[in-house]
Amino acid sequence: LVKLSERLIRFALKLGLPIEFLIKKTVYRQFVGGKDLKDCQPLVEDLRRYGVMAVLDYAAEGCDQEMDFDSSCDEILKSIEFPSNEEGIKFAVFKLTAMARFSLLEKIQKGFEITPSEQDEWSRVATRVERLCQMAAEREIMLMIDAEESWIQDPIDDLALKMMRRFNGNRPVVFNTLQMYRKDRLVYLKSLAQLAKGESFFLGIKFVRGAYLEKERNRALELGYDSPIHETKEHTDRDFDLALDFCLSQADRITVFAGTHNEASTVRLTELMAKYGLPVDDPRVHFSQLFGMSDHISFNLAAKGFNVTKYVPYGPVEKVMPYLFRRAEENTSIKGQMSRELSLIAKERTRRKNKGNYEV
Ligand SMILES: Cc1cc2nc3c(=O)[nH]c(=O)nc-3n(C[C@H](O)[C@H](O)[C@H](O)COP(=O)(O)OP(=O)(O)OC[C@H]3O[C@@H](n4cnc5c(N)ncnc54)[C@H](O)[C@@H]3O)c2cc1C
Repeated sequence: LVKLSERLIRFALKLGLPIEFLIKKTVYRQFVGGKDLKDCQPLVEDLRRYGVMAVLDYAAEGCDQEMDFDSSCDEILKSIEFPSNEEGIKFAVFKLTAMARFSLLEKIQKGFEITPSEQDEWSRVATRVERLCQMAAEREIMLMIDAEESWIQDPIDDLALKMMRRFNGNRPVVFNTLQMYRKDRLVYLKSLAQLAKGESFFLGIKFVRGAYLEKERNRALELGYDSPIHETKEHTDRDFDLALDFCLSQADRITVFAGTHNEASTVRLTELMAKYGLPVDDPRVHFSQLFGMSDHISFNLAAKGFNVTKYVPYGPVEKVMPYLFRRAEENTSIKGQMSRELSLIAKERTRRKNKGNYEV
């Protein structure tokens, strides 16, 4: 159903059919905070009441015009400025492809020579990123750069490292994201840690498992190269947990943001904090889940005093569709996490009903 509806929705949106209201009432409401920052404000306050922070994520994807890139950059700047009067926010985030042409990143990664006009284009991308990092440093906000497809990730990593060197001298301002489903990320993490130590800057790392599993595998198969992704889920899980252990053993220099809905990894991270003698609210360890998913993890962690940040995407319907398709795919009834969440909700409803305080 998810696969079929994705195609139908894309087609209907292309034709300009009025299906926005349907999307708004279903997946959009579940996974998106609102169309703009102001729209998200009540949600941010709601989360804060339960000790959960928010990171507002302008979820526009698939832009390919300079004008779009500039307006994305302006919107992300606003999301960095917004937190200054919002106690419930310490982080901001962006995707490089909201401000850079995908095919340009691909070309740079392949090592192809870029034309003078592409060089100008690339320097405009770097300027946009610098503006964001500068603003984050001034506002004392931690700024995360999302990880994307492996065939454009090298230039993202290079830019992130450049920004960490420049802005993370006194504290972690810029965070790069490592997808632990990639076979090479543990080694990369260790090389980053060595650089950070040698050059005296702080590392900020968001850890995730990785959202492009099928796309990565299909491309590797089609083009006949070795998939950069682990062969099994167990290998991904192992590297995710090993990476966290490695970072907590060097917490003097590394701040960790664990983006996961995996209960075992979450428990493991709390155990690692105890193992390395870190208090539950240590500012160098953050847990995070996406808005609309795994509330039982977020709210229970927050109730115990851990630092929890909900990732709240926002943007107009047509711009957040790729994000929504990824969430729908992740939450299918067969392989997804939604069945776990539905069964938890059903259990809680029964508990309340039995206690006699069931509210509709
Ligand atoms: C706060 C937050 C921020 C995020 N930011 C990003 C981001 O910047 N970039 C990004 O790519 N993703 C991002 N994600 C999505 C993330 O990468 C995962 O897709 C998603 O969170 C599911 O992984 P999990 O750890 O929550 O749970 P789990 O259900 O335990 O893990 C599912 C994940 O395991 C991996 N996996 C599944 N099967 C296999 C297999 N057979 N072999 C190898 N690996 C397998 C895949 O990565 C899959 O998504 C983010 C998620 C969160 C919560």
